Amino acid sequence: MGVLPNRRHQRQSKPATDTYRWIVTIDEVDAGALEINGTIYDVTVLRVNGAVTGYRLMKQPDFKVYDLDTTGEQWKCDCPDATYRERECKHIRGLRALLSAEAK
Ligand SMILES: [Zn+2]
Repeated sequence: MGVLPNRRHQRQSKPATDTYRWIVTIDEVDAGALEINGTIYDVTVLRVNGAVTGYRLMKQPDFKVYDLDTTGEQWKCDCPDATYRERECKHIRGLRALLSAEAK
């Protein structure tokens, strides 16, 4: 005789989903600001010969810089989460979600 799993409890114990929002949408000088899980980042568009190659996120208030490469099918980020754990970090998830929402 087993005990039925309490599904409702399992779902509630999962970590909260990411939250992202624009604070300042990217403007004509390729600069903006966004918030990922409560942390604020300044955003700068990276371009080579006018074409967008990625985005630079500068974390506030400690000015840690993360460069995202969006040229490939898989976006890359140079933060430890993406580099050492080889997974999509919150920067990639956040920026992609915000950019695709803006394009609509
Ligand atoms: Zn990252």
